[in-house]
Amino acid sequence: MREIDCPHHGRQHVAIACTAVAAALVDGETCGFHWFEDDRGTACAWCDDCAKAMDMDEERPHALEVICGACFESIWNMNDQPPRIS
Ligand SMILES: [Zn+2]
Ligand SMILES: [Zn+2]
Repeated sequence: MREIDCPHHGRQHVAIACTAVAAALVDGETCGFHWFEDDRGTACAWCDDCAKAMDMDEERPHALEVICGACFESIWNMNDQPPRIS
């Protein structure tokens, strides 16, 4: 499991989020939170726009970035703890 050194949480497992999801930590605005674990157990999440693009087989509008697992959980809480998608 890869780790990241977060300025807020110290050493944490990594998680992956699209830039819009990650921005929620900064601007406090949520934009959807569609998450799952990849085959290595890393939590990944993207926003409504990215999820819609995936549904339509289009390219996601946002790049993915690595964030800390505790930050990931904070954003998850901000989005009222949606259940994991497959
Ligand atoms: Zn997105
Ligand atoms: Zn963090």
